[in-house]
Amino acid sequence: MSTPNSPCAACKFLRRKCTQECVFAPYFPPDQPQKFANVHRVFGASNVAKLLNELNTVQREDAVNSLAYEAEARLRDPVYGCVGLISILQHRLKELQSDLYNAKKELAQYIGPQAMLPTLQTKRICLRRIWQFAAALAAREHQDMFRAYEQQQEIVRFNRGFDISDTVTTTGFNQITVAAMSPSLALGSFDTSYQVQPQQVDHHQHHQLQAQLFLQPQQAQPQPHEQQQTQQQHQPSGSDEGGSIGPSC
Ligand SMILES: [Zn+2]
Repeated sequence: MSTPNSPCAACKFLRRKCTQECVFAPYFPPDQPQKFANVHRVFGASNVAKLLNELNTVQREDAVNSLAYEAEARLRDPVYGCVGLISILQHRLKELQSDLYNAKKELAQYIGPQAMLPTLQTKRICLRRIWQFAAALAAREHQDMFRAYEQQQEIVRFNRGFDISDTVTTTGFNQITVAAMSPSLALGSFDTSYQVQPQQVDHHQHHQLQAQLFLQPQQAQPQPHEQQQTQQQHQPSGSDEGGSIGPSC
């Protein structure tokens, strides 16, 4: 929009007085001189003025933007003009549609023919499949945990077989067995509410000493450094079951 003291780009280019009724002034501001120069060179100022006068005010801005775009493209590419750009974009669009079709075909091998539906429906189906997969994965992890817990119990029963004087007391699933944890160390590291029952050593060279700690998982954890040291001292043969989750009888 030109100010009273500053003519619009069209009037400045045409070296004429810019009036309040100037049809170019709202669309060719003085700070964009090249825009009118392009339009004038390709279409001619009188043709543009005639065209704008025939249009509603609300349509004029779109028309000017279209003319400016077409004029610039024609000056860049005198043979094809904006048709060249349109052709390139249409070609690219076809390529992308082909890529999308191939991707849907590949997806259909996993989720079935629904993949060929419009994109929004495919997205919903994919999300549902992902949720189902996540649920199945969680269930499998739960099974693995339960299996590890059962293996732990086998070891506990095995150890009890060596030492009948010991009692292994467990009360629930959410307990932690700490192998070779000495009772004094455990009591020093935990609250007094934790019960520690050491397992007796066998009479062979393993000298395993295990303790059952009745520890809720949300509560404080034993200090891993001390735990590991003790484990190495009392269990030279090594046991992978130390510290695993979930023992009970
Ligand atoms: Zn003007």
